Amino acid sequence: MRCEGDRCSALQGEIGKATACGIYAVRPDVCRTCMPGDAECAMARRKFGLPMIELT
Ligand code: SF4
Repeated sequence: MRCEGDRCSALQGEIGKATACGIYAVRPDVCRTCMPGDAECAMARRKFGLPMIELT
């Protein structure tokens, strides 16, 4: 993973509106283990002032 400032250089789009991974098929293992709503997801969302995801 390579960062530019406070975000991954492979991240496309605008945080809080719509984003996607530009290298999804070959993303690193650390990215493959992060799941929507898990602790890492919650930490990243908190950093950008986004609410936690409620999984049902
Ligand atoms: S999934 Fe990983 S490689 Fe893709 S944008 Fe997010 S942090 Fe970057």
